[in-house]
Amino acid sequence: MPRFSSPVGNGLIAVDRWTEPSQAYFLTHLHSDHTQGLSVHWSRGPLFCSPITARLLLCKFKGFDASLIRDLEAGSTHTLSLISPLNGGEVKVRVTPIDANHCPGSVMYLFQGELGCVLYTGDFRWELTSERANMSKSTLLDALNGEKVDILYLDNTYCNPCFSFPSRRDAAQQVVDIIEKHPDHEVVIGIDTLGKEHLLLHISESLKTKIWVWPERLEIMDLLGLDELFTTDTSQTRIRAVPRYSLKQNNLESLNTIFPTIAIMPTGLPWSQNSPEKGAYTVQYTAHSSFLELEEFMKVIRPSIIVGIVSSSYCLIDPKHHFGEMCGINNCLTKGHNVYFKVMKGSHGFKVRKKKGKTKVLASVRRSGVNIVRKERRGVKIEDCESDFEVPIGSDCSS
Ligand SMILES: [Zn+2]
Repeated sequence: MPRFSSPVGNGLIAVDRWTEPSQAYFLTHLHSDHTQGLSVHWSRGPLFCSPITARLLLCKFKGFDASLIRDLEAGSTHTLSLISPLNGGEVKVRVTPIDANHCPGSVMYLFQGELGCVLYTGDFRWELTSERANMSKSTLLDALNGEKVDILYLDNTYCNPCFSFPSRRDAAQQVVDIIEKHPDHEVVIGIDTLGKEHLLLHISESLKTKIWVWPERLEIMDLLGLDELFTTDTSQTRIRAVPRYSLKQNNLESLNTIFPTIAIMPTGLPWSQNSPEKGAYTVQYTAHSSFLELEEFMKVIRPSIIVGIVSSSYCLIDPKHHFGEMCGINNCLTKGHNVYFKVMKGSHGFKVRKKKGKTKVLASVRRSGVNIVRKERRGVKIEDCESDFEVPIGSDCSS
């Protein structure tokens, strides 16, 4: 889905953004909507990612220049020495990757130092019933050590109270229950090229069976050390994990002319094909945070500025609409439409102005009006950029 650009000190650091000059590039995870512009020929600069993502990246982009990759273990802190494009001075930045609990290798990035304190979640699930998410919380709080987050770039995929999900473990059991109720059926489950491995593991272990995957997917399972539970031989299992785009009602009907078959789509979204009476089931298994999980996350972080990284979602409301008050941010700035969040050189705090008939909300992150105590030494050094940048946030208090 379309995403906002993620400039962290434009020209210095880029996160999941590959087509513009920068001094250091960070990849949160290898889902295709985060790698637009990244290819086997990409060679703009050092690329930082988790060790698992590094392996997956070299598998996805065979022939990629491995010397560009700098793998960072989740939970470790590293210091980068960058150069100011304007004055040539040194800009030191500390970066801590934190397990995002989204898909294999996924991490958030916490940047601290002369750029201010910036947290980029990428896609993440803040599922605090899981041990891993609690470890992420500890890592994040340890790295922050009481420091306030100046800017939070938030995975707002499900930032609406209508999105409430069970834990992934409970959802995985729901899938097992559906399969067990159909002992004489073949089963097809829709998945992507990466992610939902724990769901498939739970099914495999619960039902003591291998699961069929397509050959490229088996290569990824092999990289993840899971290949023993998967097969490309359809005679070994009645359960097949197939590309999610192939799960269509007409395909299911065709399969049923050959053998009784049910389809299961694990997703947080309503699935248009959902029709249990026709053998098509939706289970709310998702790797993104539910609204309540986002709320729990925001209670911990309470940033000065929030920017949603998903520019269009199915029930999009800017995160400030729900969490601005909690963070002391003026919620009026987020209602309506046609508003732009703009970080610009030399401005101070939030301003609203009309431009070409549209209301614009402007903010400076160098001298943040919402973080007065730290205004002299915090914030993204936009001054180091030649140009301003704008991020539409899709809402407005004028209408
Ligand atoms: Zn993702």
